[in-house]
Amino acid sequence: MNIALIAHDSKKELMIQFCIAYYGVLSQHNLCSTGTTGKLVVEATGLKIARHLSGSQGGVQQLVSRVSCNEIDVLFFFRDPLNAPEDNHPDDMNLMRICDVNTVPLATNIATGEALIHALERGDLDWRKNMI
Ligand code: PGA
Repeated sequence: MNIALIAHDSKKELMIQFCIAYYGVLSQHNLCSTGTTGKLVVEATGLKIARHLSGSQGGVQQLVSRVSCNEIDVLFFFRDPLNAPEDNHPDDMNLMRICDVNTVPLATNIATGEALIHALERGDLDWRKNMI
């Protein structure tokens, strides 16, 4: 499965801890990310992650494009709804919209993230493998 990771700045530490906790699951899949999120997770975990550009440089748009082409099966996008100035950034809104368009499972907070990673571990999301 192809999994994308993104975290707003105040959620990057949470993403790192999430990736440490679920290293065993995540390491069995193809991972990609926006630039800074991926850099920090790689440094902390050693996971192999294909890094796109930083969010501010167009990395979110790159992921929008990949989701549009059904190249992403699951997205972990830990958002900060309170402090991040980019909270309502059009790129972020578009990314969430395009996940809905393509029925891509999307976790925008740690609670849904936990639920999705367990679903991934159990194979509940394997139906995505049949998507073109
Ligand atoms: P980053 O992008 O991982 O490069 O910080 C994510 C974002 O800008 O929200």
